[in-house]
Formats: sequence, structure tokens, C-alpha cells
Amino acid sequence: MRVWLHRSSVPSAYRFLVAILVGALAFALTACGGGDTERAGKPVVLTTFTVLADIAKNVAGEHLTVESITKVGAEIHGYEPTPGDIKKAAKADLILDNGMNLEAWFAQFVADVKVPHVVVSAGVEPMSIGEDAYAGKVNPHAWMSPLNVQIYVDNMVRAFGELDPDHATDFQANGAAYKAELGKVHAELVRTLEALPVNERALVTCEGAFSYLARDTGLTEKYIWAVNAEQQATPQQIASAIDFVRQRKVPAVFCESTVSDAPMQRVVEATGAAFGGVLYVDSLSAADGPVPSYLALIRHDANTIGAALTGARP
Ligand SMILES: [Zn+2]
Repeated sequence: MRVWLHRSSVPSAYRFLVAILVGALAFALTACGGGDTERAGKPVVLTTFTVLADIAKNVAGEHLTVESITKVGAEIHGYEPTPGDIKKAAKADLILDNGMNLEAWFAQFVADVKVPHVVVSAGVEPMSIGEDAYAGKVNPHAWMSPLNVQIYVDNMVRAFGELDPDHATDFQANGAAYKAELGKVHAELVRTLEALPVNERALVTCEGAFSYLARDTGLTEKYIWAVNAEQQATPQQIASAIDFVRQRKVPAVFCESTVSDAPMQRVVEATGAAFGGVLYVDSLSAADGPVPSYLALIRHDANTIGAALTGARP
């Protein structure tokens, strides 16, 4: 009571000043609230390349903003991040990398931006590179097996659940649905390529990026160079591919979308094998291109390989 009496006795000019201050404080709190709302928008997940971004979007659904650091068609092994990439990554909440020595630039990159990162290939059984200066090192292209990507999905479900616990059950449901799709694409892939006559089950490509796919489908893999970062295509490497094609009577050879096919065209000229088409590994295509998603990428590669090796042009 005494307080009220006391307040009623303060001069009106003073009360006016208090009213202004209270008003200003209220305005400041509202403004802060607005800022918090903006910051509390969807968490941002950055991936190192487009293929991972598409897989992550399938797990994230509408709850996270997922983007790729490298653009469609980029060479991803020896990529050099731009100042814009570093600025963008510094604002992200989580970065996903493939690991297995895929992104030679990545360790320095995350050291610069200090954002948490998760290696999505953790738990995958690695295959070694058989030939070249990389012999014995881990082959990083584990996503070329849809069964491995099921492990990538598990890692993403876990990471996204920690990043955004309110939507953890949605991430689990999205992950389970996408893993079912991956299982279907794996079955299609095996069906398409196991239909090939045994002597035609040879996959000759520019980069040694198909070891996991070749293992899943019973193909023998031969490549000009092991990893794109070192795509020197020496005369010895080209001669070795030519010998393989001649010995195995391989009807068609291939090259990937992110590199020049000139070295493989020399194999074509020397052997008479057909150029079977462009395969996609390290990047998706643009949205209106042939492989706008990871599932489309696997289907496209399986159909291109199957059609070219059986003599039907893709
Ligand atoms: Zn590659």
C-alpha cells in the first residue's frame, strides 16, 4: 500500500521519464526477440559436395537448410575453398564431409571455420586402391554402393537428432524411408549388371571411382588413374588400359562427368571399343540434367553401363 501511495506522490515529469524508459526497454526486448527468432530459424547444414547434400536433404526433410560447399560439376578432391565458402561455412551449424581422404582440402577448411563436423562414412568397410601411386590407400568413393549410403544415412540421422532434438523422430522416419529406397536401387543395380555375360563384366573408367559399385555387382574394375586429384594420365596408364580392353575384348569404356574424357578417347581410338557414355560419381548434374539426385545418379550409371556393355547405345 505504502508503495502505491509513494508512487502516486512522484512528480509527473519523473513518471513521464520512467514511462519512456519502460517503453524503450519494451521496444529493445521486442527487437531482441525478433533477432532470436531469426537466429532460431532452421539450422544450416553444409556438405562438402552435391551428392552428400542430396542424401542429407532426404534425411533432413523440411527441418534443416542443407547446402553444398562445392557446386555442381566441381572437381571435389583437390578443391580450393574460396573466401566466400569460408564465410558461409562459419555461419553453418554443422558440416558433413565424406572422409576416407576424399576431401584433401577439408582439414584446413574446418580448422579455419571452427564449426562442428561429422564424417558420414564412419562405419563403412573401406576398400583399398589397388593400383597407382595410391596403392594400399583407402578408396574414398564409398557412396557408389547404395548399401554404404545406408550407413551414411544412419550417421546423418544421429547427427541431425543431436543438432535439432525436437525433430529427431522425423529424421529417423525420413532416414528409414530413404534407406528403403536405397535398398531398391541396390537391387536394380545388381539386376541390371548381373544380366551381362560373364566376359563382358568389365568396367573401364577414367577415375578408379567404381570399386564399391564393381564389388556389389561382380564387375572387374579398370581405370586410367586412381584418384582425380592426380589425373595425369601417363602414357603407361593409358597403355595399361588399352592392354586390358584388348585382352578382355571389352566392348565399351566410360569416363566421369567432372574430368576430361580425352585420355579415354585415346583408348577408344587404339582399341575400337565404343565410348559408352558419361558416368556420374563426384557430382550431381544441374536440376534439369540427367542426375539431379543421388538415386538418379546410381540408376543412370547402372543403365549406361548395362546398355553400353550389351551393345545397346544408352
Ligand atoms: Zn572422385
